[in-house]
Amino acid sequence: MAARKNAMRPKHRLAPGVRPDRVRLHVEVDPASGRRFRGEVEIHLRLDAAISTLRLHAVDLRVSRARFRMDDGSARTLRAKIIAEPKLEMIALRFDEKIPAGKATLTLAFSGKLRSDLCGLYGVTVDDRKYAFTQLEATDARKFFPCFDEPTMKARFEISVTTAPLNTVISNAPVARTEIAADGRKTVHFASTPPLSTYLIALAVGELESSRVVRAGPTAIRLWHTPGKGHLTRFGLEATRACLIRLERYFDLWYPYAKLDMVAVPDFEFGAMENAGAVFFRETLLLIDPDRATLGEKKRAAEVICHELAHMWYGDLVTMAWWDDLWLNEAFATWMAFRIVDEWKPEWKMWHDFQHGRAAAMKQDALRHTHPIYCKVNTAEEANENFDLITYEKGASVVRMLERYLGPTQFRRGVRTYIRRHRESNTVAADLWRALSQTSGVDVEPIARSWIEQEGYPVVEHAIVERKDGFHLQLKQERFYQQPPKQPSPGKWAVPWVGRVGRSRSGGGQLVRHLLTRKRERIFLGKRPPRFVYGNANEGGFFRAAHGPRELAALGRALASLAAVERMGLVDHQWALVCAGRAPIGAFLDLTADLADERDPDVLAALRQPLAFIAHALIPDAASTADEPFRDWLQERFGPAFSALGWTPARDEPDDVRVRRAALLAIVGGAASSGAVLRKATECCDAYLKDRRSLDANLTEAVVSLAARHGSRSRFRRYLAAAAASDTPQEKRRFLLATADFRDPKIIDATLAMSLTDRVPTQDVIFLLGRLMANPAARERTWSFIKHRWPKLRKRMPSLFASRLIESTPNLLTAAHRRDVARFFRENPVPSGDRALRQALERFDWYQGFRRGAAADLRDWLDRRLED
Ligand SMILES: [Zn+2]
Repeated sequence: MAARKNAMRPKHRLAPGVRPDRVRLHVEVDPASGRRFRGEVEIHLRLDAAISTLRLHAVDLRVSRARFRMDDGSARTLRAKIIAEPKLEMIALRFDEKIPAGKATLTLAFSGKLRSDLCGLYGVTVDDRKYAFTQLEATDARKFFPCFDEPTMKARFEISVTTAPLNTVISNAPVARTEIAADGRKTVHFASTPPLSTYLIALAVGELESSRVVRAGPTAIRLWHTPGKGHLTRFGLEATRACLIRLERYFDLWYPYAKLDMVAVPDFEFGAMENAGAVFFRETLLLIDPDRATLGEKKRAAEVICHELAHMWYGDLVTMAWWDDLWLNEAFATWMAFRIVDEWKPEWKMWHDFQHGRAAAMKQDALRHTHPIYCKVNTAEEANENFDLITYEKGASVVRMLERYLGPTQFRRGVRTYIRRHRESNTVAADLWRALSQTSGVDVEPIARSWIEQEGYPVVEHAIVERKDGFHLQLKQERFYQQPPKQPSPGKWAVPWVGRVGRSRSGGGQLVRHLLTRKRERIFLGKRPPRFVYGNANEGGFFRAAHGPRELAALGRALASLAAVERMGLVDHQWALVCAGRAPIGAFLDLTADLADERDPDVLAALRQPLAFIAHALIPDAASTADEPFRDWLQERFGPAFSALGWTPARDEPDDVRVRRAALLAIVGGAASSGAVLRKATECCDAYLKDRRSLDANLTEAVVSLAARHGSRSRFRRYLAAAAASDTPQEKRRFLLATADFRDPKIIDATLAMSLTDRVPTQDVIFLLGRLMANPAARERTWSFIKHRWPKLRKRMPSLFASRLIESTPNLLTAAHRRDVARFFRENPVPSGDRALRQALERFDWYQGFRRGAAADLRDWLDRRLED
């Protein structure tokens, strides 16, 4: 559907002249005694002009008894007729007479049913206990209570909840008082909140236990969970406190809310949600046993915790005016989390994790069907489409690029000014540019806008040329496409370019800076030729660095002079150039060979995905004769490094060695499918199933997955039992999701059938199906299952997940499947799934263009290896 070219307010937007000031919300809910809830909302309003119809949001709620009182001293009450407008997700109150401008109070009674799709106010059952939780972003507050559900409609909320005495009730503000009624039920009254947008309101009701209180300055921090998980709270509390203190220091502003509750929710759609003062998480991201979780799981949890806390300022205190600037929230929170956790735990090398995320965003943004970071949004569906890699990871990369360009101190000054200036209010991007420009004296806007408002990103080609006066670096930019179009695209970016130039015989080289604004520019390097040039120092820029053949060969000899994150970047760029037909697959494999002795686990992790793609997709589909030679070659290159490390860590072995072992195992066991390694992985898995401490935590993910490959039905049952009985959320998830890695067709069918049952929590259904789609033995059965069980499956699949499912379909590879996927999702459209479908079809098309040439290149390259 084309965008509306109409400057008038779209009809699904609220009238800006009717604003809530204060909201009193009372809810009666007891999830143990039934799914119905009811409540009353009293909204104190300001009317800028006279109206005869008043609209506000409500979805799937029964709204009754509208009372409208003029607060002009007369206390006159007016009658209104309630008209449902489900297409607009609104109700209209139509009055018999015109209401004058001024203040008024609207009271509505409402009732609804606890939902099962993880949004609005929804029900969750854990062991026999029943709970209710909210998840309201982007536009689901309207499924919880009638409200002015737009981010600029900030109001102070006074919330109270009546429920059974056993239940704990958590909301944004601290408890002010609790009353017990004659019938034994209790009513919890919360203090009033500062001004908040509706999407940040939180409610949790049920039997929850709390950790001890930890303090960060005046703020009391508590971690909440379902009973029996108290032993998993230490890590989360420590990370919360460490991040909160550092964030306060960064913003030079106290945490803005009266207390901080961190709540582990047993079934949750997103990773976490930044409700002001009451942050909700998936259990895997908050409840951790530090001895049994992998380093990656701990880092990810800390990052998400910090991301949500950064939102307390960026998002909650200062909120984007409308969903088209969602990136103002998400890009900043994402970037900030890496920055702050890196400050807390420098040994974790968080910017390596950032690079993994950035690589995924670059892959998506290389499609023709991508979108700019700033994106026009009219409806709720469109708002939901933007919770993606572009908004988060690309956005964060652009923020990082700007920080590097202005310098961290200047940048922080600008951010502090921006937050202070707009606290408790709403902003657009221009407000941020203004603050940054004022404090730094640099006109930021033109640079920022070329990245925020323009889709895609450039590839910058690097070539060293000799002239009369010495050596120059020639830079040339053009838009990068995974599947380049016939006509070159007109895109041009203001690239804050920073390169690493090696001049001396050894050492890490020097950083050279340049603002590249034209298509081609030259930089003088010196009278003597440099030893090497790497075109994206520290991977700080959101662009692909392409090096000419000579420049690339020089880099191959200078790998040790590059930062580890640059070697990660080099791997990613080279593979992307192969995919785009700009480099032969052999050049990538030569680079892979040069990295066989790589000591940094993240560089190995960057290699894993392309190698697995070659081994599990390209070869079986288009180059089956290359199967054994390729696996032998991988084994030969990476086997020795893995053998040298052995399976068992030395006592006090540092984390990065443990993680390197895991990364190598994923290559030799995964992509290379070494028989000996797979057998040993199965043995280790058996021991691990018996004793969770028998295996280094970092190896568990790969071992459990590899042992499933040739696993029998009895192993499958043991995984299910382990998933049910495990006492950490990470192990539960590990065993549950690994059931998707079995290759026996009967087991695949059993796993598929299980996805429709409560054995798989709603939050994990998509991850299970996504992993089945990535399993070469399971993808076709999975697709056929999805088609045949769609109505039932769809009920277990919130919209966001349905789009993720569409994203997994290109694993099917073939042109026939492409047609089938297109037909199926056109007949069964998924809300917010339009863009995901166009992207998936584009990926299918790309692969069809890629497979034949790449397979031939691969065979040639392997033949030459064999001859050598
Ligand atoms: Zn966020």
